[in-house]
Amino acid sequence: MGLLALSSPSGHIEQVIFSAHFVASAADPKHFPASSVPEIAFLGRSNVGKSSLINALVGSKIAKTSNTPGRTQTINFFELRRPAKPHPEFFFVDLPGYGYARVPTEISARWSFFIDPYLKSRSSLVLCLVLVDVSISPQKLDEQLLEWLRHHKKSYLVVGTKSDRVSSNQLRNSLTTIAERLQIDTREIIPFSAKSRTGHAQLWSLIRAAVGITATAQKQD
Ligand code: GDP
Repeated sequence: MGLLALSSPSGHIEQVIFSAHFVASAADPKHFPASSVPEIAFLGRSNVGKSSLINALVGSKIAKTSNTPGRTQTINFFELRRPAKPHPEFFFVDLPGYGYARVPTEISARWSFFIDPYLKSRSSLVLCLVLVDVSISPQKLDEQLLEWLRHHKKSYLVVGTKSDRVSSNQLRNSLTTIAERLQIDTREIIPFSAKSRTGHAQLWSLIRAAVGITATAQKQD
């Protein structure tokens, strides 16, 4: 069970309970579940803190954290559902980490075979969250991914993970560097920490907006 913090237009914070459940793992477009609800995709280099971020958002360990970078080889779909509701409200989609140096050819093959088709053709995909570690500089692959997303006119946001690892001065410098390298505005980067929960409410509010859940709609249920 995860608590989704919703802030209404009046600034009042409401909390709505969502449960997150694993739906499917796919290593082939044939195994993607039917496109039925809005989807948020999570992307980032191996070890960027993607599993920790997903688990922190939903308040349970649905995404596997691992010390073996590049281990998640599948696209994993999770549904977010409110109790007693017959249908999920939206999906979280955990894409395989990229840039694991030991298996570069395998990674590129995987990208063209099922990750690229997912990102390009999935009609229910509403937002890509691109994770970049604020404690190390952004990599070429992060730049390429952003270029690719812009080229294909995908909605994306950049999340700066592990913000608890740097001081506030270092964070400012890091956000400037990331913004320059990725050709975005620093305001388009959400600092996040799975440990301190920095950025948790802001990220939820952006996800909520992307999937079309408003605080008002919640009240009417
Ligand atoms: P993934 O490979 O992208 O799924 O990354 P994981 O979530 O498995 O995290 C990789 C490593 O970074 C693990 O050792 C985590 O404990 C650590 N990590 C992840 N998020 C944070 C964070 O917010 N703060 C700190 N200090 N460490 C983190």
